[in-house]
Amino acid sequence: MPEQLCPECGATLFYDSPTKRYACKGCGLYVTKDELVNIKDKLRQGTDEYRKRKQQQSEYLEWWLSAKK
Ligand SMILES: [Zn+2]
Repeated sequence: MPEQLCPECGATLFYDSPTKRYACKGCGLYVTKDELVNIKDKLRQGTDEYRKRKQQQSEYLEWWLSAKK
């Protein structure tokens, strides 16, 4: 099984086979594999949204600056 990294803090996750969950010693995250995938998906979407918002902001700023001239 490949090593998994914590999506929250980046520390190595430990697989707890009796409960089939991943545990993070860095931040205390304790999730199943499905939940881990969900969190990673959500974070990826969040990053995309953040990037999109940044882009919109800079476009607006450009428009605002050029409109002032
Ligand atoms: Zn963590």
